[in-house]
Amino acid sequence: MKILLFPVLTSIFVQVLSSPNPVKRSVTDVCKQIASAISSASDVYYPLELLYDKDISHWASSSSAVAACSVEPGSAADVGIILQILGNTTTPFGVKGGGHASNPNFSSTTGVQIAMYRFSEVVYDAASSTATIGAGLIWDDVYAALAPYDVNVVGGRVTGVGVAGFTLGGGYSWKTNQYGLTVDTLTAFELVKPDGTVANVTQDSDSDLFFALKGGFNNFGIVTRFTLQTFPQTQVWGGLITFTEDQIPKVINATYTFASNVTDPKAAIITTANFLLGQPGISQLLFYDGPTPPDGIFDDFLAIPYFTKDVSTRDFVSLVQASPSNATAGTRAIFNSAPLLELTPTVLDAIINETVFWGSKLSWESGSFISYDIEPFMSTIFTHSDSASVYPPSRSTAYLPLNLYYAWGLEIADDSFHSAIKQSANQITAVALAEGQVGVDTAPIYPNYAIYDTPLDRLYGDNVAKMQSIKAIVDPDNVMEALYLHTKGLELHKTLIYRVPLLWTFSFPPLIMPRRTRNIHLSEKPAELVVGQSNAKKALLIGINNTLMEQDGGGRRSRLTMPHRDVNSMRALLIEHYHYNPNDIVTLIDVDDPKQLQPTRANIRTELRKLVADARRGDRFFFHYSGHVVQTENQDHTEEDGKDECLVPCDSDGVQNLIKDDELHGILVDQLPQGSQLVAILDSCHSGSLLDLEHYRCNRVWVPWMSKGRRKSDPIRNKVQRHNALIVYQHKRISGDRVKQRKTTILNHPLSPLSPERRRRASREMPATPISPVTSPASPTTHKKLARALTKLDINATKGINAIRRSSTWKNSPNTGQQVMKRSKTIKSQFIPWLDIKRAEAAAAEGDTNEEGLQCESPVQQFCNGWCHHNSSPSSPKSPRSPGSPEIISLASCKDSQEAWEDSEGNSMTQRLVEILKQDPHPTMGDLMVTISHKLHDAAMKAHTQTKQYKDKVVRYRKKHPEKCKYPDEGDTDGLNLNDFQDPQLSSRKPLDMRRRFYLIALSFAAEIPRQTNDPCAKIGGQKWVSPEDLRACYTSFAVDPVIKENIVDVINKTLAFHTSVNYEISAPEPFTEFVHEDLLKDLARISTQSYPSDYDLHLDLSRTLKRLNDGHCVWINSCYDSLFLNFLPIPLALLTDSTGAQNVHIAPEAFAAASAEFPDEITVWQDALPPAIQLQSLDGAKVLSIEGQDSFVAVDTNALITGSFQPLGTRQNSFFSSYQFGDNGWTYIMGDFAQQSLPLNDSVTLVVQRVNESTTDAIQLPYRARINPDTVKFTDSASYRANNCLAILGTNGVDLNETGDSAAPLSETVMRFQQQPPTSKTFTKERVNVMLDTIPLSDVALPPSLIPSVPVVSGGFGSGQFYMLPDNITGIFALGSFGGDTIDAMMSGMLEGLVNLKSLGATQLIVDVSNNGGGFICAAEFLHRIIVGPKNTTVPQAGLDTKARDGPLARLIVQQIIQSNVDPDQDLLYNPLNWDNASNVGFAADDDWLLPPVNLTINGHVDAFSQRLGQECQPNGFTSTPPDEALFSASNVVIVSNGRCASSCSLFSITMAKEEGVKTVVIGGKSDVQQAYCGTVGGQSTVFSELDTEVKTAKLKNNTLAPPDLLVNGVQGVTWRLGFGIQDPTQPEEWQPHLATLNLLLTPNLYVLLPLDRISD
Ligand SMILES: Cc1cc2nc3c(=O)[nH]c(=O)nc-3n(C[C@H](O)[C@H](O)[C@H](O)COP(=O)(O)OP(=O)(O)OC[C@H]3O[C@@H](n4cnc5c(N)ncnc54)[C@H](O)[C@@H]3O)c2cc1C
Repeated sequence: MKILLFPVLTSIFVQVLSSPNPVKRSVTDVCKQIASAISSASDVYYPLELLYDKDISHWASSSSAVAACSVEPGSAADVGIILQILGNTTTPFGVKGGGHASNPNFSSTTGVQIAMYRFSEVVYDAASSTATIGAGLIWDDVYAALAPYDVNVVGGRVTGVGVAGFTLGGGYSWKTNQYGLTVDTLTAFELVKPDGTVANVTQDSDSDLFFALKGGFNNFGIVTRFTLQTFPQTQVWGGLITFTEDQIPKVINATYTFASNVTDPKAAIITTANFLLGQPGISQLLFYDGPTPPDGIFDDFLAIPYFTKDVSTRDFVSLVQASPSNATAGTRAIFNSAPLLELTPTVLDAIINETVFWGSKLSWESGSFISYDIEPFMSTIFTHSDSASVYPPSRSTAYLPLNLYYAWGLEIADDSFHSAIKQSANQITAVALAEGQVGVDTAPIYPNYAIYDTPLDRLYGDNVAKMQSIKAIVDPDNVMEALYLHTKGLELHKTLIYRVPLLWTFSFPPLIMPRRTRNIHLSEKPAELVVGQSNAKKALLIGINNTLMEQDGGGRRSRLTMPHRDVNSMRALLIEHYHYNPNDIVTLIDVDDPKQLQPTRANIRTELRKLVADARRGDRFFFHYSGHVVQTENQDHTEEDGKDECLVPCDSDGVQNLIKDDELHGILVDQLPQGSQLVAILDSCHSGSLLDLEHYRCNRVWVPWMSKGRRKSDPIRNKVQRHNALIVYQHKRISGDRVKQRKTTILNHPLSPLSPERRRRASREMPATPISPVTSPASPTTHKKLARALTKLDINATKGINAIRRSSTWKNSPNTGQQVMKRSKTIKSQFIPWLDIKRAEAAAAEGDTNEEGLQCESPVQQFCNGWCHHNSSPSSPKSPRSPGSPEIISLASCKDSQEAWEDSEGNSMTQRLVEILKQDPHPTMGDLMVTISHKLHDAAMKAHTQTKQYKDKVVRYRKKHPEKCKYPDEGDTDGLNLNDFQDPQLSSRKPLDMRRRFYLIALSFAAEIPRQTNDPCAKIGGQKWVSPEDLRACYTSFAVDPVIKENIVDVINKTLAFHTSVNYEISAPEPFTEFVHEDLLKDLARISTQSYPSDYDLHLDLSRTLKRLNDGHCVWINSCYDSLFLNFLPIPLALLTDSTGAQNVHIAPEAFAAASAEFPDEITVWQDALPPAIQLQSLDGAKVLSIEGQDSFVAVDTNALITGSFQPLGTRQNSFFSSYQFGDNGWTYIMGDFAQQSLPLNDSVTLVVQRVNESTTDAIQLPYRARINPDTVKFTDSASYRANNCLAILGTNGVDLNETGDSAAPLSETVMRFQQQPPTSKTFTKERVNVMLDTIPLSDVALPPSLIPSVPVVSGGFGSGQFYMLPDNITGIFALGSFGGDTIDAMMSGMLEGLVNLKSLGATQLIVDVSNNGGGFICAAEFLHRIIVGPKNTTVPQAGLDTKARDGPLARLIVQQIIQSNVDPDQDLLYNPLNWDNASNVGFAADDDWLLPPVNLTINGHVDAFSQRLGQECQPNGFTSTPPDEALFSASNVVIVSNGRCASSCSLFSITMAKEEGVKTVVIGGKSDVQQAYCGTVGGQSTVFSELDTEVKTAKLKNNTLAPPDLLVNGVQGVTWRLGFGIQDPTQPEEWQPHLATLNLLLTPNLYVLLPLDRISD
C-alpha cells in the first residue's frame, strides 16, 4: 500500500492542477503554491535570499531579470508539478541551465525563475560509452567528472557555459571536427513535458520529439537529463595567446592558412578579433586533441610575437578554463551571427574592419568589448551523424558560424548595440556575398548565436512547419509559450521561441508636451517667511496637470498628462524604498476632489513653509514638483541669464500668481538650519536653477553626445563645464600631460573677479579701495544680495562690488588697464554691463570687441567654476561649504534654457528617475546623472523620430483631407526639434563629490534615527566628556541598515581578494597557530546572514572578527564608532618585577602626573569617585591585586584576546600597559589598553590595590569617562552624528587617476586617523609605504616631563626620529617612532646625519629604540639597515625581503589593463609591471604580465594563487641619499630595543637586522613566562581599500563584478597586498617565522624610575 500511495497522490495532485479552467493568480501566490506542492528535494527562494540571486543571475547582466521567486527543482517529478502549476495559472516563467543565453528573457523572467542547478549528476556508463548528464551542470564540471575515466563528451569550448542551453541549441565543440555537433552525439533526453509528465525521449521512443529537441530549445518542455556518447580523452594541447594590434595582419594570415590547409580533425582554433578599451587586438585559442600537435599546424601562430601566452599540454578542463570568457561576465551583452562559406582574406579583412569601426564607435556608448569569433570548422562536420535534427536544417553545407559578441555597460544603450550588431552581421554577409559566397544571406544561422529577432526560418529553414506541428501535439495548451511573453500579440511566432521586441506603438495625435509655454514679463516681490510645524522626515509632492496659460492675449488651458502619475510614482518610491511614513508625505494635485488639496499658489506656499517649518538639524526634506515652469524677465540683475524661473500653480494664468525662484529659495533654502537636508526633484522646463543653488554648472557630468559644447548650446555659459568631473567612458585615455592641460585650459579662461587669485591681486593693485570679504565664490544668493545692496547703496556691499569690478580688468586684452579703470568710476556702470550677456552676445555677433559688455568676463565665472572641490575649505561657519551647513540638492529635468518633455507613452523624467532608483536606490550621483541623462537622451531621440513620422503623417492627412482641417494649427508640429534635448541638472549648496551616493542614501541611512523627542545622541552631542553608558545608548540606537551592511561586507569580502594572508590565517603555522586561526570568509558569510540588535553590535562583530587575525595590516575600522570618543581611566598600568623575580601589575608610578596633565577638566570626577581617604595621586605605583574580582593577569589575557594587530601573545599583553613613543610631536605617552579604550566597552572598573608604603589593601571603583576625539566632527544629535561621522567622505574611496584631472588620489582622512605611523604628506606617492592600522589612534597624551630623556640630543633627526648620546660617550641612541611622518628624503638624510654625528662624537655602539614604531616607508627601513651595516657584496638585495602578491582574477585584470590600455602612464599604480623587479632583480618590461603564470599553492586546504617571486624594490634606485661606502657601526655593537610593538616596515628593519646581521634584540617589559617577540606583523607591503580602489578605478574595472563597490560608510579596510618571503626559510612567508627577542629585559621598580633609554645601556 505504501508503495502505491505516492503515485496515487501524485496523480490526484496532477489532476487537480490540470483542471480545465486556468486560475489567474498573482505570481507571488503561484510561488507559494509551488512551494507547498513540491517535495523536499526542491526549494523556492525569494528576493534577498542568497540562492535567489544565484538563480536569477546570468553571464550577461542584460539576460537577467528580477523574478518574483526562483525555484530549484530537485527531481523530474517536481519539475512536472511546477509546470502544471505554471501552465494552469498561465504564469510567466523562465528555465535556466548555465545562464549563458545572450538574448534577454530567453532563460529569465519577471515571473517564476526555474533554475536547474540541482540536476547535477554525471553518470558514466562504460558499457554503452555514454554519460548521463544533469541539465543544471556547466561543461567544466562534466569534463572534470569524466576525466578519471579518460573519456569525454562533445561539449563547450570555454569555461562556464551550461550543458542545457548549449546542447538544446546545437553545440559547436572542440571535438566537432571529429564527431559533429553535440546534438549529433545525443542518445536520449529525460524530458518533462508541458503537461507535467516525465518521458525518456530517444530516437526509438519518439523520433519526432527527439528530432525537435535537437536544436529546438525549450519549446517542447524542460529537459532534466541528457545522455551523450563518450569518446576517449588523453591530455590535450593548447590554450590562449593574445596579440596586440600590430600583429593582427600576421594572426589573420595564420588563421587564413589554418582554415585553408589544416585537415587534421583534432586541430581547432578560435580567432577572436576584439576591440577592448580603445584598441583592437586578437585573442587566439588553439586546441589539439592530443598531448602534442604535429609540426606545422600551429607554427604560424606560435611564431608571432605575442602579448600573453598560456599554451601547454594540459588536461581538458584546464584548457577550457584557459579561455578569457569570464573577463566580461556581468556586463550587458548580445550575440549575433553571420554564417559564412569560407574565410577568405577579404572576409577576414572585413571582420577586422568591422571590429575597429564598431569598437571605436561604440566606445562612446559605454561599449566595453566588441568582438568577432572566427571559427574555421571543417566542411565535414555535419557528416558524422545521419540522425536528423532541427538544427542544422540542412546537412549538405557546413556554414561557418561566425559569432559576433558585443558587451557594454549602460542599459540605455541596449538598442544601439542591438542595432549595431545587426548592421555589422549584415555588412559581413554583404562582403561575403559580393565576393561570391552564394547563399550566405539565406543560410541557417546557429540558434545559440542568433540575435532574438532572427526570423525562425533563418534558424530552422524548412523544419519550422514540422516543429510547429510537433509542438501542437506536445504542448497543445501552449504552456511553454509563457516563456516568451514578449511575443504576445505576434501570432505568427506564437508557438516558437524567437521573440521580437515590443513594437513601438505610434500614437496620434498629441505626442509630447513641453512643461512650459513661453517666456513672459513679470515682477513680483519676494515672499516673507512664516514659521510652522516641524517633522523629522517629510515630503511635499506637487503635480499639476491643468494650467491656464495666457497666450497671445487669450487664455488657453495647457494640459500635461504625467504630473499626477509622477506624484503617485514618487510617493510609492519614497514609501517603499526610502521608508517614508505615508503620513509625512503631502501631495498637491489638481483633481476634482474636494478632499484633495489643490496646488494653488496659496496652497503651495503654505505647504512649502510647513514642510520646513521648525526645521532642525538632522531633519530631512523632500520636494517634488511636476508641472509647468515659465521664465520671466529678471529685473534686479540677479540672474546670470537675465531670467527668473517661476512655478505655475493651477490658479495661475502663466502671468499672475506665479511662484518665483526667489520665493522658493527664500522658503526652502535660506531657512534650513545647519545639519538638515533637502532633496528637490524638479520636473519641468527651465528648472536647472529653480532653487538658485550655488553649485549648478559644476556638478555636470559629461555625456559626449549631449554636451555639445559651445557651438550648439548656451554658448557663453557652457565654457566652464567642469572637465575634471567627467564621467566619461573614454575609449582612449589621455596622457597625464593632457589631463594637466585640461586644467590649464580652464584656468586659461579669464579669471573671475571673484576668484581668490584675482581678489588677491586686486587688493595689491588697489590698496586705496578696501575690499569687503566675499564669502566663497559668488553664488546666485551672494550675487543677489550684492545686487540688492547695491541698489540700496549699501556702502559695504558697493565697496565690495567696486573692488571686484575693478579687479576684473583683463590684463591680456588690448583694451584693458586705463580704459577699464576709467569706466569703473560709477558703481552702476560697472555692474550692469557685467551682467548684460545679451548685449555682449549681440556685440560679439557683430564683431564689436569694444562693446562694453565684452570688456567683462563671462558671467559664468562668477559662479563656481568647476574647481570648487579643490578649494573646499569653509570660509565661514555659515558658508554653504562649512561641514554643518544644510545639504541641499536639486535634480532638475533640464537646464534653464531648455524645455522638459513628457511623451504619450507615459514617460517623464520623474518616471525614469523612479525606475532607476527602484533598481538601485543608492547610485553614486555621477552614475545617477549619467544614467538619467542617457535615458532622457534616448527618449528625445525616439521622440524626434516620432515627431518626424507624425509631421509626415499630418502633412499627408492634410493633403488628403483638406476639408477636415478646421484649424490650420491643429496637430501643430512645432516642438521637439533635433537639437532640442533636455539635459538634467544637479545643483547643490556645497560642491558635490559626484562619486558619493545619491543624497537619498542619507535618508535611508538615517532611516532608523530615533525620533528627536528621545534622542540618545542628543544627550552626548556637543559634549566633551560623556559616560560610556550614554555613548553606548547613542551607538546602539541605530538599527542595522541592510544596504549598509551588505555594502560593508561586500567591500571587505572583495578587498580580501588582495590580502595575501587570507588562507594562511585560517590556521597559521607554529608558533602562531594558537593565536591566528581565523577563517575570515566563513565568518563574513556568517555575519552577512546574522541579525544584530543594532548597527553598533554588527560593527563589534565585524571589527573583532578581523582583529582575531592579530594582523594590524588587515583590519576593519569604522569612524562612526572606533575612537569617536576614547574611553579613559586616570590610572594607566605597568608590569613590574620585584627583587624576587615575581611580577605584579601596578598602577604606573607616573599615572597621576600623566592624567592630571592630560585631563585637568575631568580629574575631579575620578577623585570624587574614590573614598574620601584616598587621593588619586596616592594610587601611583600601587600594586593591583585584582581587576574586577579576578587576578590582574586574567584581565591582561582577556584584553590580549581582542586587542588584535600583533601576532605574538607577549606583544598584545604588553599593549595593556603604558608605554611611550617618539614621534612627530616629540615624546608622547601611551596610556595602554587598560586606561584607554577605542570603544565604550566598560563603564567602570573595580580594583583591589595595595598602595605604596601601605600594608592594607583598598577596594576602589573608578568610572571610565569617554572624551571626544579631536578628529570627531562635532554633532548635536543622532542625525548630525550620523551625517557628520558615519558617511563616506572624500578619500574613503579611490579615484580614477585619469579622470580627476590631477594625478593625486585624495589622502583618506579615515586612514590617516588610524594609521600607526604619522601620515606622510603625499601627492599620490610612489614611495612604498607599509600601512599599519589600529583603532587606538596615535596618542596625543604628552609624556610627563620627568620621563623625557635627560641626555643630550645629538643633531640630525627628523619628524619621528631623534638621536641621543649616553653619558658613557660610546653609546649612541636612535629613538625611532616610525618610518613615516616626514618625507622619505628628510628621513633618509636625517638618519644618515644623526648616525654620522653619533659616530663623530665617539659612539661605537648603537641602540635603536623602536618602541611602538608603526612602520611606514619601506625604503627608509631598508636604507637604515644599509647605512648601519654598510654595503655587502653578497647580499643584494641586502635589506629587503623578496615578496609575492596575490594573483586573484581582479588583480590580473588590473595588470592586463595597465599593459594593454596604457591606463597608468605615470607609473602610479601598484600593479604596474614597471614598478617591480623579478626574483633576479631585473625590472619587468612595460608589457610583462608579472602575474602570469600564477604560482598555485594549497594553503590550509584552499587553492590559492600568487605572483612570481619579486625581487629588490629599493636598492639602488630607492635611496635618495647616497649611503656611505662603509658601515657606520659593527652589527655586533648594535641593539634594537622595543616593547615588541614594532610593525610593518619596523618589522622589516628589525628582522633583516636580526636575522641577516645578527643584531641583538631586546624587549623591555613583558611577562616573564611568555616568550617575547621583538616585532609583529611583517608583510611585504600593506595598503588600504581606497588605494586598491584607485587601482581598480584607474584600470577602468569598477564595473567588473569582482570589484569592491564604493564604501558607503566612513570606514577603512586594510590588507597586506605583498607578502615577504622568509630569510631563514626562504620558501615560506617571513610572517609566520619566529622573531624571538635575544633578551627580555624585565621592568623592575628600580629601573622604572629611569627612562628606558637611559637604562638600556646597563
Ligand atoms: C562565453 C560563452 C561561450 C560560448 N561558447 C560556445 C561554444 O563554444 N559553442 C557553442 O555552440 N555555443 C557557445 N556559446 C553559446 C551557448 O551555447 C548558449 O549561450 C547556450 O544557450 C548557453 O546555455 P546555458 O544553459 O548556459 O544557457 P541558459 O541561459 O541557461 O539557457 C539557454 C536557453 O536554453 C533553455 N534551457 C536551459 N535549460 C533548459 C532545460 N533544462 N530545458 C529546456 N530548456 C532549457 C533556456 O530556457 C534558454 O532558452 C557560448 C556562450 C557564451 C556566453
